[in-house]
Amino acid sequence: MLLKHGHPTAEAMVESTLRWIKFFEEEKFHDIVLSLKSADVDASVKAQNIISGKTNYPLHIGVTEAGTLISGIVKTSIGVSALLKKNIGDTFRVSITEDPLIQVKIAKEILNTLGLRERGSEIISCPSCGRAEVDIRSIALAVEQRAESLAVPKKIAVMGCVVNAAGEAREADYGIGCGKGKGAIFKKGVVIKTVKEEELVSELFELIEAEQNQPEMA
Ligand code: SF4
Repeated sequence: MLLKHGHPTAEAMVESTLRWIKFFEEEKFHDIVLSLKSADVDASVKAQNIISGKTNYPLHIGVTEAGTLISGIVKTSIGVSALLKKNIGDTFRVSITEDPLIQVKIAKEILNTLGLRERGSEIISCPSCGRAEVDIRSIALAVEQRAESLAVPKKIAVMGCVVNAAGEAREADYGIGCGKGKGAIFKKGVVIKTVKEEELVSELFELIEAEQNQPEMA
């Protein structure tokens, strides 16, 4: 195989897989799950694409040994989404050098983004710029963490300034628009209250949770 293909190409992985399938089938063994992965995104995607057209066995997809956090997320997202969008793949792993809990979180986010999983809360947050007068990153992370435990998932906007907050917050269920040392809490684009910066996250979730805990009107 190595002499024929030179190195582990997509074609080599497919040929080798088909050989193993034939071997198992001749032994009357059909409880098979396929996994053809490479650390090379193109080779992985190509091999998984080809094999999906040649057999009906369940296929585990992904890019193996994709690296550390940032490069791993990029490689996995590019590889896996190209396949999932074509309905190829039954399981996948985010194979990166990170805590398994982070791997699962990234996998869920990929499925959420592709609309293949019932979404949890969605956080829309700005990248910050010279207009921001607060630490928007830590506020967005705190909001994301609190949102994980909401009984009913919500779309929440976290904006570094009030200029863009009103527009973005209109599209979200709730929102925060920050100013100097304080910020506004929005609901469907309407300002509900203005609070100190350090109280923004707790006040926002007090509002959301109070509304979620209200008994439904008959
Ligand atoms: S929302 Fe405001 S702070 Fe955030 S990037 Fe846009 S202009 Fe800058």
